[in-house]
Amino acid sequence: MTKTHFIVPFFIPHVGCPHDCVFCSQGKITGKERPVLPEEVIPIIREYRATFPRNARMVEAAFFGGSFTGIPAPLQTAFLKEAYLAKKEGLIDRIRLSTRPDYIDQEVLERLSEFRVDTIELGVQSMSDEVLKKSARGHSSADVVQASRKIREYGFRLGLQMMVGLPGSRPDTEVQTASGICALKPDFVRIYPTLVIRGTALETMYKKGMYKPPSLEEAVDLCAVLAAMFIRENIAIIRMGLQPTELISEGGEVVAGPFHPSFRQLVDSRLVLRAVKWILDQRGMDPEVGIVMETNPKLLSTLKGIGKENIKALEREYPGLEIKVLKNKDLGRSEIRFINGKRMFEADYRQVIKSIK
Ligand code: SF4
Repeated sequence: MTKTHFIVPFFIPHVGCPHDCVFCSQGKITGKERPVLPEEVIPIIREYRATFPRNARMVEAAFFGGSFTGIPAPLQTAFLKEAYLAKKEGLIDRIRLSTRPDYIDQEVLERLSEFRVDTIELGVQSMSDEVLKKSARGHSSADVVQASRKIREYGFRLGLQMMVGLPGSRPDTEVQTASGICALKPDFVRIYPTLVIRGTALETMYKKGMYKPPSLEEAVDLCAVLAAMFIRENIAIIRMGLQPTELISEGGEVVAGPFHPSFRQLVDSRLVLRAVKWILDQRGMDPEVGIVMETNPKLLSTLKGIGKENIKALEREYPGLEIKVLKNKDLGRSEIRFINGKRMFEADYRQVIKSIK
């Protein structure tokens, strides 16, 4: 599928943020990156546009990096005015920004409405107040509920971000967070495994033995459970992997934590494996004749798993079974055809994930 949705990113660091979220490395980013100025917004959009294909169906200006609605109101207005002008001129289709749940109130929402902002993303991180407290977030789960409802009442698109593996979290608090998020019916979610970034409070906690990050395997397993919950509710997962401080984690600043450059593929492969095992168990098969799985070329590497991890897992599960995986461009992007001797059946792995608990 050709890419038709393009983002023009604007990094707006939350200079002087009064909070101290343990995982945050904003201070480091702020020192390294020159923040964008309002008068640069339209020229930057024009520059980006020149690199996008003519058939780009959706161009979105995205203000990220800190808590947009926490910066001084005149500066918010200056940025929003420029983005609004760009939208009026047809240079962009949507305006998106991210912020904290406790930086949403009527005055803020009126301002964002006035300048035709489309999407607001909230950093929820956890719906457990204990985890929020241990992570020094400075807001509660009730703030998340209240802010999300208000955002909806004003008619904005709502995105919610959660972090997995924060201090004090356990698998049950992660599930509690995902189910709390599902209840708020966002348009999309992002899932970030917590990484220990150099120079953060979390690094100190980690070095003192007060914090132990989940292993990559644990994080992938857990995120597969959470992703299945969102798939069941038809909530799009637009990002899995890295965390909001990704600018520096990409620069080799990760001290510990479940970092993997293809984290999303690891989780998607785990989900596909779960679905395939379920299908094979339900349908039964003749191990003597081996099995061929055909799938859309886009799903092929996810079905095999990184390093053929899924094939190896199936071989362990069904010793002696000969397994072949082939491309079939006639199948849909989440469809798999199973051929076992003379038997042939197809399944959509996402539909299977929806039906298994
Ligand atoms: S994550 Fe956001 S709110 Fe928390 S300290 Fe960093 S900039 Fe401030």
